[in-house]
Amino acid sequence: MTTITLVQGDITRQSADAIVNAANSSLLGGGGVDGAIHRRGGPAILQECRELRASYYGKGLPTGQAVATTAGELDARWVIHTVGPVWSATEDRSELLASCYRESLRVADELGARTVAFPAVSTGVYRWPMQDAARIAVEAVRGTETAVEEVRFVLFDERAYEAFAEQVG
Ligand code: ADP
Repeated sequence: MTTITLVQGDITRQSADAIVNAANSSLLGGGGVDGAIHRRGGPAILQECRELRASYYGKGLPTGQAVATTAGELDARWVIHTVGPVWSATEDRSELLASCYRESLRVADELGARTVAFPAVSTGVYRWPMQDAARIAVEAVRGTETAVEEVRFVLFDERAYEAFAEQVG
C-alpha cells in the first residue's frame, strides 16, 4: 500500500529517497522547481543530466518520461527528472501528465526508493490548472502499482496544497 502525504513547502528542503524534478526536456535546468533543485543540489546533478543527454537524450527527454540522477547536496539519494506537458486548451494532454507520475514511480521502483517527493508537475510555467493537475496526479499515483511506501506531494503554496487536499480527501 502506498500512502499519500501532503506538505506545503519547498521540495528542495525535503528528506526523501527520491525527489522528483519538473524538468524541461533539455535536462539542462530551467526556472521554478527545476532551478531550485539545481541551485540547492549543486553542480553534480547538472553534470549527470548533461551526460544523460549526451548518451541517450540528444533530442531531449520526451514529455511524460522520467530519468534519475543522484541528488548532489539534497537530502535524498536520487532526483527523478520528469518532463510535464505544457497545458493546452485545445488538446487533452492528461495522459502525458499522468505518465509523469507513473514513469517516475517506475523509475523509483527500479532504484528501490521507498519515499518519493513530487512537486505539482506542469502547474507553474507550463500553466496546467491546479485543480485538474491535482486530480490527475492523485489518480495516477493511486492507479499505479509500486513498492513506494510514501508518495509525498510537496506543494509550494496554500492554493496548491488545498487543491491536492481536496483530491486526497
Ligand atoms: P512546470 O514547468 O512543470 O510547470 P514549474 O517549476 O514552473 O514546473 O512549476 C511546477 C510547480 O512547482 C508550481 O506549482 C510551482 O509553484 C512549484 N514550485 C516552484 N518551486 C518549488 C519548490 N522549490 N518546491 C516545491 N514546488 C515548487
